[in-house]
Amino acid sequence: MRKPETQQQRYDAVIVGSGPNGLAAAIRLAQEGWSTLVIEAAATPGGGTRTAELTLPGFHHDICSAVHPMGVASPFFKSLPLAEHGLGWVHPEIPLAHPFDDGHAAAMYRDIDATCETLGSDAQRYRRLYRPLVDDADGLFKQLLGPIRLPAAPLAMTRFGINALLPATWLARTRFRGDAARALFAGHAAHSIMPLDAACTSAIGLMLSLAGHAVGWPVAKGGSAALSQALVSHLTSLGGEVVCDWPVASIDELPAARAYLFDTSPGALARIAADRLPATYLRRLLRFRHGPGLFKVDWALDSPIPWTAAAARRAGTVHVGGGIDEIVAAEDLACSGRGHPERPFVLLSQPTLCDPSRAPQGKHTAWGYCHVPSGSDFDMTARIEAQIERFAPGFKDCIAARATMNCSDYEGYNSNLVGGDITGGMNHWSQLFTRPVARSNPYTTPERDIYICSSSSPPGGGVHGMCGYWAAEAALRHAPAAR
Ligand SMILES: Cc1cc2nc3c(=O)[nH]c(=O)nc-3n(C[C@H](O)[C@H](O)[C@H](O)COP(=O)(O)OP(=O)(O)OC[C@H]3O[C@@H](n4cnc5c(N)ncnc54)[C@H](O)[C@@H]3O)c2cc1C
Repeated sequence: MRKPETQQQRYDAVIVGSGPNGLAAAIRLAQEGWSTLVIEAAATPGGGTRTAELTLPGFHHDICSAVHPMGVASPFFKSLPLAEHGLGWVHPEIPLAHPFDDGHAAAMYRDIDATCETLGSDAQRYRRLYRPLVDDADGLFKQLLGPIRLPAAPLAMTRFGINALLPATWLARTRFRGDAARALFAGHAAHSIMPLDAACTSAIGLMLSLAGHAVGWPVAKGGSAALSQALVSHLTSLGGEVVCDWPVASIDELPAARAYLFDTSPGALARIAADRLPATYLRRLLRFRHGPGLFKVDWALDSPIPWTAAAARRAGTVHVGGGIDEIVAAEDLACSGRGHPERPFVLLSQPTLCDPSRAPQGKHTAWGYCHVPSGSDFDMTARIEAQIERFAPGFKDCIAARATMNCSDYEGYNSNLVGGDITGGMNHWSQLFTRPVARSNPYTTPERDIYICSSSSPPGGGVHGMCGYWAAEAALRHAPAAR
């Protein structure tokens, strides 16, 4: 394959992969005056933040990420002038609704009190859990969106940590008495893509609900690609360069640099830098465990989804799975790799309710997925649509077109999504904060010029750019001086 031209022969930093973490790393280094080159395998930059007309002309769908609580909470993204580069966050009227068979829904509003009103007798218990966390939200995001380090606010971290270490099933069943609050929490925790009785699955549930109250669950106006376009535009304004259509196979093909940062899977780093990294470190990279996969459907719709519950008709995201027992059973089957749930837990986004620019006038889009065993090619379309129809009778009649992607479609689309794993690695407690390899600085490798900056490093999956930020900080501190 012919390599694309680059403007220079030598850079301070070469970043392989242009996902939100690769771009964040490049921006942080460019801020310090480093010349940076970002190399992307695909035809356009963006990794998990791309948007395309997947179904019909005029219907713009987010191929991967769609909802951005971590994007707005990210201390690094918040510090960047991304609005000047075209990024607008759009907030739905209600961040999230969780409908039940009886036609009512639990709902997470930005406002804790409004949320409590949907939780019956658990109102006070919910308030007691979240109010102190939300009061400390800024400090908690700074602490949690990074590697393990001494807490700047020990009290707030202790309050978060005691709950975060628990299995989600335990927290939901001991903290709450009613089905609504238990199911609401289980739905948040299911974003961990782990069986919900596993240790630390409460961490992701707490973080996402904390974000819902503190900063919201917005979408990017026009689609998630607006975020990567803003990051590229800002990087370019700082002198950075991005080249596409270059799937890097070996570190030897890269221009000379003080530091190489890999926004790739640990396995890809091991293959690309096999001749440079010691055998023991390579073995540890290859032992890294990936998480389960997913099956996703994008719909072009003739009308909004006719949810029975009023809150679901006004919510940006809808968790479709009924009560806690059903969610726990579905996630256990899929995430332990034992099978495909008959009634999957579906995470659904309906962005056109707050961002009509994504579809022709009066029309809508929806994005929904469920978890499946790693590498599965089982078609979950019928089961996903049956779940939605259960809470929104008439949904199937609204469908104008659909597009689906299974685990191998995703891995073929972006090699970081190993077996359909969307979180950069299994969220098992043993690799939550020490990924990909336990080292005092997890972004470094035994070579001073090689770093990992993808979501396979802390703080893991999600569009926040913080893995890239911290990897860039490591390179600024440890990389060899300029020649
Ligand atoms: C279906 C789906 C839904 C999701 N939903 C959400 C959501 O709603 N909210 C959220 O916050 N997160 C979501 N995520 C997760 C989020 O997209 C990822 O956590 C995030 O994109 C990780 O960023 P990254 O920079 O680490 O890697 P990626 O975004 O995966 O980017 C890596 C880039 O590196 C490139 N690359 C890899 N290897 C090479 C190579 N050898 N040479 C050159 N280039 C290479 C890839 O092509 C890719 O462009 C979702 C992911 C998926 C797949």
